[in-house]
Amino acid sequence: MHKLILKPGREKSLKRRHPWIFSGGVARVEGNPQAGDTVDVCSADGALLAVAAYSPQSQIRARIWDWGAREIDAAFIAQRVLRAAASRDVTQDAGVRLVHGESDGLPGIVADRYGDTVVVQLLSVGAERWRDAIADALAGLAGVARVVERSDADVRALEGLQPRNGLLRGSTANGPLTVIEHGLRFNVDAEQGHKTGFYLDQRDNRLTLRNLARGKTVLDCFCYSGGFALNALAGNAAAVTAMDSSGPALQAARANAALNQLNGAEWLEADVFKTLRTFRDAGRTFDLIVLDPPKFAPTAAHAEKAARAYKDINLLGFKLLNPGGMLMSYSCSGGVSADLFQKIVAGAALDAGVDARIEGWLHGAADHPVALNFPEGEYLKGLLLRVSA
Ligand code: SAH
Repeated sequence: MHKLILKPGREKSLKRRHPWIFSGGVARVEGNPQAGDTVDVCSADGALLAVAAYSPQSQIRARIWDWGAREIDAAFIAQRVLRAAASRDVTQDAGVRLVHGESDGLPGIVADRYGDTVVVQLLSVGAERWRDAIADALAGLAGVARVVERSDADVRALEGLQPRNGLLRGSTANGPLTVIEHGLRFNVDAEQGHKTGFYLDQRDNRLTLRNLARGKTVLDCFCYSGGFALNALAGNAAAVTAMDSSGPALQAARANAALNQLNGAEWLEADVFKTLRTFRDAGRTFDLIVLDPPKFAPTAAHAEKAARAYKDINLLGFKLLNPGGMLMSYSCSGGVSADLFQKIVAGAALDAGVDARIEGWLHGAADHPVALNFPEGEYLKGLLLRVSA
């Protein structure tokens, strides 16, 4: 058996059941484990603490599968996948995250279900090792016709893995993949779209926006396939402007608008940083602005640069609001905590010269749970703010 022995004192985080072992905490490795092999994790005094997937290239040197001393095999992985899937409320035609990585006891594994299609991302060598077991378990779920792999996220490189995409189980779909979210229909581009094709994490926040939009002029920044913008239209906004720098994203957004017969939005293929300045200089204002930028800080090491970018767009957002207007502002950066994000937004309001209050703290939907032992799982945080009239 392969063994990973920790430096003295480095078992503390494991005793709190944190699922990562960083390279700096490792005293030595015994046996000859290869990438993805299961290792016994022992404290400096030899006590067996957990079993983990060994990742020789990553700073996260091992990811815990289990805190008991048990065998990791295909049956173990399948049981974890089934447990995760069983905790979700799956309705036909809906999109739902079935597996959410560490928070489901499946480090490096993400699986989103869109109707009869499951799109899976394997993001660590441990996940890669159990690729077949994961694919079989997902393909075996009731109502699933195919499993598609989208293992092309940048984080794979940190694990020494190449990107890998394609059909894993089942047969190719006949038509486009669509899901219904709170009554709206969206095409999901599982092959070319971002992540697994759609941002399911914002599901409930989009509905929150819909309920705020009546009679308002709405600006959706970083609109991707139109999630927030279409909800603004569905909520009877007076006018909706949406922008994204990606041409294919905007094409998808227009198609989704047509699919729901929601007309009248202004779709702009544009850089948000530049365009908000253009709007400011032109004196253009809005009642409700959504800022849902991409991940500026994948890890804490990028936090400072990310903070400047968040400050910039939030400052501009505040300046473009009509009196009494609302800003719905997000960060999906794992490297920026909720606390830091709130401070950045507070600084932006101060510099914009507006008086703003928080009316809500926003989070990912319930199918993106955060395990209590893994606070890093809370990557998506948002603030709903109102400026004084
Ligand atoms: N709000 C969306 C998800 C946004 S994802 C939803 O609910 O589905 C972030 C989006 O920002 C991506 O579509 C990406 O193309 C876009 N993007 C990244 N940098 C940008 C920039 N500088 N200007 C405009 N859009 C940008």
